[in-house]
Amino acid sequence: MIHEPERECMARDTMVALQLEALQAVLARTYLHVPFYRKRFDEMRIDPDEVRCLEDLARLPVTTREDLQANYPYGLFAVPLREVVRIHASTCMSVVVGYTRNDIKTWSDLLARVLVAGGVGKDDVVQIALGYNLSTGGFGVHYGAERIGASVIPTSTGNTRRQLKIMRDFKTTALVATPGYAALLGRTLQEQGTPRGSLSLRAALLGGEPLSDILRRDIQDRLGVVATDNYGLSEVMGPGVAGECQERDGLHINEDHFLVEVVDPVSLAPVAPGEPGELVITTLSKEAFPVIRFRTRDITRLLPGTCPCGRTTRRMARVERRSDDILIVRGVKVDPRRVAELFLEIEGHPSPHRIEIERATGMDSLTLLVGVEESSGFDEVRKQQERLDRLRRGFTSELGLTVAVRLVEKGSLNLAFS
Ligand SMILES: [Zn+2]
Repeated sequence: MIHEPERECMARDTMVALQLEALQAVLARTYLHVPFYRKRFDEMRIDPDEVRCLEDLARLPVTTREDLQANYPYGLFAVPLREVVRIHASTCMSVVVGYTRNDIKTWSDLLARVLVAGGVGKDDVVQIALGYNLSTGGFGVHYGAERIGASVIPTSTGNTRRQLKIMRDFKTTALVATPGYAALLGRTLQEQGTPRGSLSLRAALLGGEPLSDILRRDIQDRLGVVATDNYGLSEVMGPGVAGECQERDGLHINEDHFLVEVVDPVSLAPVAPGEPGELVITTLSKEAFPVIRFRTRDITRLLPGTCPCGRTTRRMARVERRSDDILIVRGVKVDPRRVAELFLEIEGHPSPHRIEIERATGMDSLTLLVGVEESSGFDEVRKQQERLDRLRRGFTSELGLTVAVRLVEKGSLNLAFS
């Protein structure tokens, strides 16, 4: 099933024409109504009327989360508040976003697309275990589920045992939650000794956090569902930007509403087709809170080929990491994941550690604090010195820059997991 086949299965040239027309319109509107964008465009001597093809988008300035925060609360709204019917905010409340009546209608349809792609239809009983509050999750999915005519149970988050009781008693067939919460529901079900078969559940729509293959398998096994991933972020709209279909091979991007680019997070140049990079999104239809070239900091890549489901919208790989995780020290990119892997390669086991960067003009330095249990004795000191040398040599040669290593008492690292 496809919610809006005439939009989701468009020929590529029709899509490109639609995107260009919508892009020109949104640029004209933001230039006219949002001083922040007008100032930026003027500074860079960019006339929005001169954007004549999608490639021209790359000439426009990017917008960062910091830009949005600097315009708190309403500085980037493109319509007067009297036209705004809903206000949400990012998790830390530093970015406030608004929706016109049309925006809510569009949002509902986009969520309807994602739900239908995830296997949910009007006969389903949908339990939405996402926050119904300032965050965009709960309300976004709620309107989409009502749009397709499903029976919606707005349980919101928390109270795991009550969630499971409702799931069983109300015969929930589709669960909407973060992957972490879905996994917790699955574990609790097992701990209670409730057989999976006593539930009517068959689909789970997961979003808001990275979904790894292991986590997906775990949720599918414990809850007996087909679990699909979906992607969105409050700065852009909330959920509804992209979602997996039943093939579960990449997330279909709602390209008629969101123009995406994948760029090198350092140079901001477009990456080669199919290569990973940072996702940059321009909203094409948002009225109240349009964003132009918003840097999501999420790392993904566009997948090649067409999807057997019939949708022609391009697919992006699941987002598993963010670009601001990557540190740049003296021009060298350091990926904290690689640092964690290197402990395994150099010593054969993982080690609790923290990376410290000191920024001084032209003299950034990287120190690796490695946590050890408190110990004493000459032999220990000698062993520790050998270990320090081994780590320093290993990290320096693998990362391509001088790394200082210090052993510190493990508790002083303040790690959530160690
Ligand atoms: Zn598909």
